[in-house]
Amino acid sequence: MTGDESLPLPPHAVSRLRAARLARSSKPFLARGGPRGERCAGCRLVPSHCLCGLRPVVPVCVGVCLIMADIEALKPSNTGWLVADVVPDTFAFGWARTEADPALLALLRDPQWQPYVVFPSEFVEPARVVNDVPVAASPIARRPLFILLDATWPEARKMFRKSAYLDSFPVLSLRSDRLSNYQLRRTKADQHFCTSEVAALCLAACGETLAAQTLNAYQEVFTDHYLRAKQQLPLDWEDAAHKRLQSLANLMALKLLQSPELQSPADSLETRRLAY
Ligand SMILES: [Zn+2]
Repeated sequence: MTGDESLPLPPHAVSRLRAARLARSSKPFLARGGPRGERCAGCRLVPSHCLCGLRPVVPVCVGVCLIMADIEALKPSNTGWLVADVVPDTFAFGWARTEADPALLALLRDPQWQPYVVFPSEFVEPARVVNDVPVAASPIARRPLFILLDATWPEARKMFRKSAYLDSFPVLSLRSDRLSNYQLRRTKADQHFCTSEVAALCLAACGETLAAQTLNAYQEVFTDHYLRAKQQLPLDWEDAAHKRLQSLANLMALKLLQSPELQSPADSLETRRLAY
């Protein structure tokens, strides 16, 4: 299939943050090495490599709060965008050293959420560190809200140190033996996970295995579309990555049919399109 038949979706949190950041720019943001010309507003790719028709639906009870370094939302390779594509309750805020967005502070105070700051344990006092997220035992339990600092590693460390409003929350330190397969901005010195991989590890940590696999498969297909667009190569819609995403999306659709209570009332599935 191609992305041509996708329906327009309302802009998600990262898309809105990007638009707001662009509106504040005094000069146009030029992505280094990215493809030039017209871009799809839904996925940031050139129309021939549009990903929108492949966007899977992953309704989960957890939320993701992206706190993004200044130009992160502008980067066409940013994978926080993919998290917002897939996880209905994704929130996104720009970070500033001197002040916190009042909407972010209100979200962190909202009693329906139990925030977890996702950060490596070696930089945190041990008493704050947790390695697992308790799966909600009752419907009235607070829902996990994973706070991800979406930035380069030095920026993320600075953001962690200089955001006092995060100090009271537990720090989730993720362990994974899986090496990152992220290829877009990978350098030899950068062995850290990309944002969507971290979000997938969070989903896995609270038992949302199928959702985690689906997000990883979606990121893999995005990486393929992004790199092929950059190299002006045609897509192979039938390759292993596309087939894996399709089979996971089918499994998720089946799970939804069997468990309608999984559907998030805040973001009705009627407004989102099943990709397959
Ligand atoms: Zn698109």
